[in-house]
Amino acid sequence: MSPSEPLPLGATIGILGGGQLGRMSAMAAARLGYRCHIFAPEADSPAMQVSAANTIAAYEDVGALHRFAASVDVVTFEFENVPAATLAALEGKVPCRPGTRALSICQDRFAEKRFLVEAGVPVAPWRAVETMADLLAAITQIGLPAVLKTTRLGYDGRGQAVLRQPQDAAPAFERLAPKPLILEAFVPFTAEISAIAARGMDGAVAVFDAVENRHRHHILDLSFAPARLPAMAAAAARDHVARVASALGLIGVMALEMFLLPDGSLLGNEMAPRPHNSGHWTMDACACGQFEQHVRAVAGLPLGPVARHADAVMRNLVGPEGLAAWPALVARPDVVAHWYGKAEAKPGRKLGHANRLLALGSLSGLDDGAACGGI
Ligand code: AMP
Repeated sequence: MSPSEPLPLGATIGILGGGQLGRMSAMAAARLGYRCHIFAPEADSPAMQVSAANTIAAYEDVGALHRFAASVDVVTFEFENVPAATLAALEGKVPCRPGTRALSICQDRFAEKRFLVEAGVPVAPWRAVETMADLLAAITQIGLPAVLKTTRLGYDGRGQAVLRQPQDAAPAFERLAPKPLILEAFVPFTAEISAIAARGMDGAVAVFDAVENRHRHHILDLSFAPARLPAMAAAAARDHVARVASALGLIGVMALEMFLLPDGSLLGNEMAPRPHNSGHWTMDACACGQFEQHVRAVAGLPLGPVARHADAVMRNLVGPEGLAAWPALVARPDVVAHWYGKAEAKPGRKLGHANRLLALGSLSGLDDGAACGGI
């Protein structure tokens, strides 16, 4: 098979990672006539439950990786903390989409910030912090409040601390690991926005409407689609993610998280080179949602339509509270409910999500309570 041709029906997509993003990608792949083979260290993961083949092995197990490469037609990943060495061990044996470059940029906050700025997306002032002396110098330059973060393996707000007064610096520096850290100016945002782009093998880019995100305990709680933003800011958010996807040479989908400032401008915060929690609304409010776009891109198919046919509010179902909400949500006529098949409802664990669909164009006239309608 030539690398520029679409994968034939019945071909196998290898996915590194077994979580819900892999599960929903595998379900979208099945709809397009592809099989999935999941590679993950955990048995009975959400993605393995819905896939044709599984390998349960460590990401460092080179023998297992080589057997996996021989059994699939293309490889993708569903979370960005897959070791870059794992993807590097597969590249050259099988096409990897996205490749190691996109992965390694998104794994390192320094590389990510530099890349965003080069791609034309402004970011908050930041400094690299290796030692306590660096941190004190960075505080002098950036001022307080500021946010101190790990540069690698950050996830759902873990690995960060807000510094409000000088005495906060030393305990935060001691606690956060691994070093180096990054100090960012605290952004007085009025909303958190994200946008998702898909980029195909042919370089075509398609962008979903930008959404507004609300977090609870550092975990995404709600996404409002579309974001209730001035048209200029909404267009800028979409332009930003499209430029970044092109600059990365991405094949697949990516999310760009941004802060909206009081003057209507945007600052880039973080990006993820994979389907994203803030894009789950697209599964039910667009003809071709983010998971199908991802599979299309990785398989070399043309991208699908990204237009919204409904407005939507997505709620994450997290921990025991999420489990308790499920029976009522799955019974509602205005909600499409999704469950990930995780074994335990541990606090803080994402177990599913609910998409409440509203008439196209109606969200802008609603406050949050009315938009959520009790979901
Ligand atoms: P992150 O891990 O970078 O996505 O940060 C998690 C959350 O912390 C964000 O969604 C924001 O709510 C908050 N946050 C992160 N960086 C900043 C910042 N520089 N200023 C203000 N809030 C921030």
